[in-house]
Amino acid sequence: MAERMLQFVRLSQQTPEKRAVPVRREDFAEIYRKFDPARAAEQASRCSQCGVPFCSVHCPLSNNIPDWLKLTAEGRLEEAYEVSSATNNFPEICGRICPQDRLCEGNCVIEKGFESVTIGAVERYITDTAFASGWVKPNAPKHERPQSVGIIGAGPAGLAAADMLRARGYQVHVYDRYDRVGGLLIYGIPGFKLEKEIVLRRWKLLEEGGVQFHLGQGIGEGLDFAELRAKHDAMLIATGVYKARQIGGPGAGLPGIVPALDYLTVSNRTGLGDTVPAFTDGSMDAAGKRVVVIGGGDTAMDCVRTAVRQGAISVQCLYRRDQANMPGSMREVKNAQEEGVEFVWLSAPEAFLGDTTVTGVKVMKMRLGMPDASGRASVEPSDEHMTVPADLVIKALGFDPEDLPGLWGVPGLDVSRWGTLKVDHRTQMTALPGVFAAGDIVRGASLVVWAVKDGRDAALKMHEYMQASAMAVAAE
Ligand SMILES: Cc1cc2nc3c(=O)[nH]c(=O)nc-3n(C[C@H](O)[C@H](O)[C@H](O)COP(=O)(O)OP(=O)(O)OC[C@H]3O[C@@H](n4cnc5c(N)ncnc54)[C@H](O)[C@@H]3O)c2cc1C
Ligand code: SF4
Repeated sequence: MAERMLQFVRLSQQTPEKRAVPVRREDFAEIYRKFDPARAAEQASRCSQCGVPFCSVHCPLSNNIPDWLKLTAEGRLEEAYEVSSATNNFPEICGRICPQDRLCEGNCVIEKGFESVTIGAVERYITDTAFASGWVKPNAPKHERPQSVGIIGAGPAGLAAADMLRARGYQVHVYDRYDRVGGLLIYGIPGFKLEKEIVLRRWKLLEEGGVQFHLGQGIGEGLDFAELRAKHDAMLIATGVYKARQIGGPGAGLPGIVPALDYLTVSNRTGLGDTVPAFTDGSMDAAGKRVVVIGGGDTAMDCVRTAVRQGAISVQCLYRRDQANMPGSMREVKNAQEEGVEFVWLSAPEAFLGDTTVTGVKVMKMRLGMPDASGRASVEPSDEHMTVPADLVIKALGFDPEDLPGLWGVPGLDVSRWGTLKVDHRTQMTALPGVFAAGDIVRGASLVVWAVKDGRDAALKMHEYMQASAMAVAAE
């Protein structure tokens, strides 16, 4: 091993090459090129094979990272794929969009002075190679079980659970109000971070494995929760969080001020070939407009970069804290800056200007105060004000859970004071027997990798529950 690994002392960190800015600004294709085999093996060989791998400890899925890095360095890619896919249902997706700087790579112990191993890029490379080589097979079961499960939500949490339960032989039915599978992977996250083909490929594979999708089926929007519950032996709620946080102040209702997810969904649908009136009538198309995005998270970054690609004249991002205190991934901020986005730090909107449509945002400049309970610097208003011209304002202030008990007419579904579903953390079961929950609807807005982890855990707990129920029936 010593010969092949520990090459960080000799080889410097190299991330996959990015496409040139003028080219990538013109389309929605991913900005990172793929590693070639030699580069992937070289970069994997930089791993120091620590006894206690902090990268794995800080990966929500506890991926066996040093093992698959070593196998990649040795050119044993099929085995690398087996190890990598044993703990992650969608490694090629996490490899692309996890904020690795905060997770695995941020905790690589060779980082000091040598820069971390490019774990995410190698993870993506392994699974992309596995798909290209035909090694990825549907997770079809060896034995069928009669029990059926109903999963509400075809986002990463629901899909990971569906994959795991189907592999155990359950009859898996996934219900979603969207017409495509993937949740935020398909309609939220833009193609320049995650090409749609990657998500569609997983959808096809799950179907080939026997997962049955019921699309365009909103629970509480025509489909009744109680009826579904009566039909299945166990249920999983994995509906994510979709209530956009609002912004107040004079002029906040003016036309031309749009919610971020509506804007991204329209763009993603258009990219998938749908004809979307809000795009064709120009109301959600940034072409030729001065665009202002309000917010500092991943959603805001996706909006500014989408606006660039749609041909905006200018794109500004208003954020009330400074760069060091932004919640979004630093990698995405850098990508946005390279693509020409201007960040206006320490700026909070106080009013929107315009008569029939928005023409500008009145901004109050902020200053940083003492850290708050979360450790992030608090902000307080200064007495400085300015006006930023705008033809399209996109609000990206975060999401809260919808009122599921109210919307679905199920008062027994307990929620926390934030509106997220309450589960027993040992069983992942909600207050309703046999009804489990996973992903953002339990955690609040989070990450894809956590949704996958929750979906996997919930699948195991649902399996245990259904086994116990079957045994109880047999004993009667
Ligand atoms: C714009 C944006 C960019 C992001 N970028 C990243 C990133 O780069 N990296 C990262 O790790 N995370 C990112 N995230 C967060 C990540 O997408 C989420 O944490 C993750 O998708 C949550 O998975 P989930 O399965 O819980 O929910 P979702 O992905 O939201 O899926 C929930 C599904 O449930 C369906 N549903 C909801 N209500 C109903 C109902 N009543 N009936 C039927 N179906 C219903 C929805 O249609 C949806 O398909 C981003 C989020 C956003 C909004
Ligand atoms: S799943 Fe995410 S955190 Fe875990 S190894 Fe992959 S990129 Fe890193």
